[in-house]
Amino acid sequence: MKKILQDLGFEQLKNLVADMGAQPFRAKQLMEGLSRGKKISEINVDQALRQKLLEEYEDEPVSLEKIFRSADGTEKYLFRLADGNVIEGVFMKYKYGNTQCVSTQVGCRMGCKFCASTLGGLVRNLTSGEILCQTLVVNAMHAAGKERGVTNIVLMGSGEPLDNFDEVSAFLKNVTAPEGINISARNISLSTCGIVPKIYELADLGIPVNLTISLHQTTDEGRRRTMPVANKYTIDGILKACEYYFEKTGRRYIFEYSLISGENADEKHAEELIKLLRGKPCHVNLIRLNEVKERTLKAAGDAQAYKFQAILQNGGISATVRRSMGSDIGGACGQLRAGYLKTEHVPPKR
Ligand code: SAH
Repeated sequence: MKKILQDLGFEQLKNLVADMGAQPFRAKQLMEGLSRGKKISEINVDQALRQKLLEEYEDEPVSLEKIFRSADGTEKYLFRLADGNVIEGVFMKYKYGNTQCVSTQVGCRMGCKFCASTLGGLVRNLTSGEILCQTLVVNAMHAAGKERGVTNIVLMGSGEPLDNFDEVSAFLKNVTAPEGINISARNISLSTCGIVPKIYELADLGIPVNLTISLHQTTDEGRRRTMPVANKYTIDGILKACEYYFEKTGRRYIFEYSLISGENADEKHAEELIKLLRGKPCHVNLIRLNEVKERTLKAAGDAQAYKFQAILQNGGISATVRRSMGSDIGGACGQLRAGYLKTEHVPPKR
């Protein structure tokens, strides 16, 4: 695989252009072109520079392989990477803006029992440019017309962002840079299963994204049943790291809690959650489990979800039930990729 130009920030791009003997203003032209989702071969720079770049860098590091469109405007994507791997993403339209969910790894090694992304383990980390390109490609497709492009990004696709910390932090730096697509940190959410030391590093990064923690249980013992990462990090450790994140960034943090019947969705769990979180600057996002056919876990019903929410709210905890979007096009949380790999058997390009 060739190198990826979108891995570079503006300063690095300036150095590269100088090394290739081109004039400094070419760096700005390249940055503008790439930020509009153009391929190197489509950017209007001089031919010598373009040729040199194409010898070393991928012209199209991330391409759209398939688009699934829902009646509610949600779009789900399969992207093809230059080495033939496939990743997935989602684009959701809200009143306040358009949110894109991006992947940070091909597969995942965290092994959560409810999640399809981890079924085949980790294939490889994505580079910062491959994460960025997912947004650039989708933004270009929407912003080309009169439509609004991507305004918000959630790092909630396949992969554990804090298990790929260096590339994810380079991505955060580049996606928020004024010379690039320039998405504000407050419009970006990073979701983690709770890799505690990396939460501290994220807090120290100086890019105050919204921190979202996949909690999904109220005790360490319970959490270990569905999330192997809980063997390494405790809920107490996570809460302390969240506190540090709040001190450093001033941002309220969010807990994701996917309701699994017979596992974590009873009244007693809601009561335990209140005890755990009372007084903390946080919000709880209740998620209806997307049942994964390779797994036996069952979703709690809607009535149970709203009851759980009411108990939390009565206990003084801010909580919402996440809206399900794009359910008519099926697949979510790694299921699109898993299904695709199973049915299409597409050989890698090279
Ligand atoms: N690795 C990150 C991002 C994962 S995806 C993390 O663990 O946070 C974003 C959210 O979807 C996480 O809270 C994850 O636990 C949850 N999730 C995964 N599979 C799910 C499923 N089948 N149903 C509902 N939520 C799921």
